[in-house]
Amino acid sequence: MSSIDRSQSVGGTRTYEVRTYGCQMNVHDSERLAGLLEDAGYVRAPEGADAADVVVFNTCAVRENADNKLYGNLGHLAPKKAARPGMQIAVGGCLAQKDRDTIVKKAPWVDVVFGTHNIGKLPVLLERARVQEEAQVEIAESLEAFPSTLPTRRESAYAAWVSISVGCNNTCTFCIVPALRGKEKDRRPGDILAEIETLVAEGVSEITLLGQNVNAYGSDIGDREAFSKLLRACGKIEGLERVRFTSPHPRDFTDDVIAAMAETPNVMPQLHMPLQSGSDTVLKAMRRSYRQERYLGIIEKVRAAIPHAAISTDIIVGFPGETDEDFEQTLHVVREARFAQAFTFQYSKRPGTPAAEMDGQIPKKVVQERYERLVALQEEISWEENKKQVGRTLELMVAEGEGRKDDTTHRLSGRAPDSRLVHFTKPDQEVRPGDVVTVEITYAAPHHLLAEGPVLDVRRTRAGDAWEKRTAEKEGKAAQSAGVLLGLPKIGVPEPLPVAASGCGCD
Ligand code: SF4
Repeated sequence: MSSIDRSQSVGGTRTYEVRTYGCQMNVHDSERLAGLLEDAGYVRAPEGADAADVVVFNTCAVRENADNKLYGNLGHLAPKKAARPGMQIAVGGCLAQKDRDTIVKKAPWVDVVFGTHNIGKLPVLLERARVQEEAQVEIAESLEAFPSTLPTRRESAYAAWVSISVGCNNTCTFCIVPALRGKEKDRRPGDILAEIETLVAEGVSEITLLGQNVNAYGSDIGDREAFSKLLRACGKIEGLERVRFTSPHPRDFTDDVIAAMAETPNVMPQLHMPLQSGSDTVLKAMRRSYRQERYLGIIEKVRAAIPHAAISTDIIVGFPGETDEDFEQTLHVVREARFAQAFTFQYSKRPGTPAAEMDGQIPKKVVQERYERLVALQEEISWEENKKQVGRTLELMVAEGEGRKDDTTHRLSGRAPDSRLVHFTKPDQEVRPGDVVTVEITYAAPHHLLAEGPVLDVRRTRAGDAWEKRTAEKEGKAAQSAGVLLGLPKIGVPEPLPVAASGCGCD
């Protein structure tokens, strides 16, 4: 049994850090990884500390040069681990599911490799690696347990992710998710609602229903209207103020879902619906199983039922075979749909996807030129759509850490029901994250709004109480172990993710 260097331990307890890459699904899973480790007796490494006793990478296989990033970070940790016997490194997530034991071949100082289907195994694998002094690689081919059934350590005191399904039954040709997260598996509605009620009892007032394809929810349990029923059931939960979901697929976006959104007061007027391309030819090559007309038809129906809905999307530019005319079709849909926001990606090959083998790969220069034209058009539209908010009176849920300039501008920040970011003038009355303030919008910028006048109303909420209680606990713990300079908990903040970028539409 190797001697353990406890230099980074807190009061003799081993510390951990989870570094998260990729989509919301990974952010949700990382909260479970943190919960598992805390359940096993680890504590979060203090903010700013050097590497923790256990460093866990929750990887993404989709985002740009994901592999280089992982191996770069692992290389960076090697000397630290060499200098500290007992330090352990674990790699999980989509890249681990894809690369498996290649990871320990390339980085033999890695102790544990686990996949997307068996995240619950992490503590056991760490212990086994420590006792046997041998790397443990364990990848399951199918889901062992819904991550939602595992202990969690949520990032936010007032907002929470609630996974309703894992995996995806679609086969978009640019996407590797189905190969790594498997076929769609739906949680039972009762389990989801029970989790939401528990969260609300803990002070959470906003939830985001999460799935690669949320509106396909029910296909696994034989109820095609299960998703709209779930939204309506959320409307009956006392204390649940805001319900959001990500990400729907246009093919499965049915009228019952639009009606449920419009008729359930706590379902927010916000929709993130990946378009990917406006060209029917490209959509066919992507195997997205809807066409331009249907997509615009859904937008029209949503706008008719929910006039103030903010709609955002994902778009890939430069998919193999995309002609100038195809790209013009994408610009046409962007002009018609008037998205509040669009997450735009330049197509790049993903090893293991059908699109990577396709003819007609577009030269980088052409992709770049099209990308810039799309971004410029969308920037204009985002700003025009934001300007329509000026003069509106809105309820904001006060957010934590969303206003980079708040300290210098004497402002606070919050999210409007449609998820737009609003910076507002700090009222004299104390306001906490999770509380709700009413303001009038006075100015619009391309990506945020300002409410420069006085706050019209402050509503202290149970979510604000939960935030206050959690902050006091953190500070209490910090004071308690002041000896080792315990800072705020750290979960290895992931790369800034665009809001609502989908678990699906991983481009
Ligand atoms: S892009 Fe989304 S819908 Fe398509 S296969 Fe990937 S996860 Fe599924």
